[in-house]
Amino acid sequence: VVLRESPIAIEREGAPGAVVFVCEHASCRLPEELGTLGLDDRALRSHIAWDIGALDLARGLADAVDGTVCYQRFSRLAYDCNRPPEASSAIVGRSETYDIPGNQGLDPAQRSARVKGIYLPFRDGLAALLERRQAAARATVLVTVHSFTPVYFGTPRQVEIGILHDSDTRLADAMLAEAQQMGSSFVVRRNEPYAPTDGVTHTLVEHGIKRGIPNVMIEVRNDLLVKGAMLDPVVEYISNMLNGAMSNTGSSSVRR
Ligand SMILES: [Zn+2]
Repeated sequence: VVLRESPIAIEREGAPGAVVFVCEHASCRLPEELGTLGLDDRALRSHIAWDIGALDLARGLADAVDGTVCYQRFSRLAYDCNRPPEASSAIVGRSETYDIPGNQGLDPAQRSARVKGIYLPFRDGLAALLERRQAAARATVLVTVHSFTPVYFGTPRQVEIGILHDSDTRLADAMLAEAQQMGSSFVVRRNEPYAPTDGVTHTLVEHGIKRGIPNVMIEVRNDLLVKGAMLDPVVEYISNMLNGAMSNTGSSSVRR
């Protein structure tokens, strides 16, 4: 049941900065083995399949702070790597207004094949990356990078950048304080448009909190992530927030 292709990709592992950017929803591609899940092209390219622009954002941020990027190569419709296997939302039969026929009525063997083919190798690959850093006594900060759709169930969202956290609020607090100090052309909010009660902090808990690594989840509205003129100021703003927060919390500064 192991997929032919590994679900995890790591870029810039040798980069000197402290931040490991993780993008669980980087891709809209389905593993060949799963076909189209019964979806048409429009659905397969929409925000239900992936976080539009999130990988570009993660790469831009990694470039700005000399960090590392770790991402999942397949669509979250195959398996949502920001959810544990026991969560029903790990493999969804419906997302926003779309039915996903290929995910409905799965038997335990089919679910377990996705867990073994996608979730476990991604989880273990990320854990191994963090352990290699720990073994080399490298300072590490975990930042998960996501995007959200400007209109959800017909309602426009005002928030542009969400800073999300679970029980470890250190990095989020410091970033929000930094945002306040910088003043902002962006609408920045704590735990919006999602909160830990929505089940979105799995990676933070599993990989950050369990290891005592400072961690935060960044959610950016995807209309701001168009490469170039739109994306550049977002990258600059968030990397300033991060650099300021890391020097204030004593996490190794990566300011150049
Ligand atoms: Zn996401």
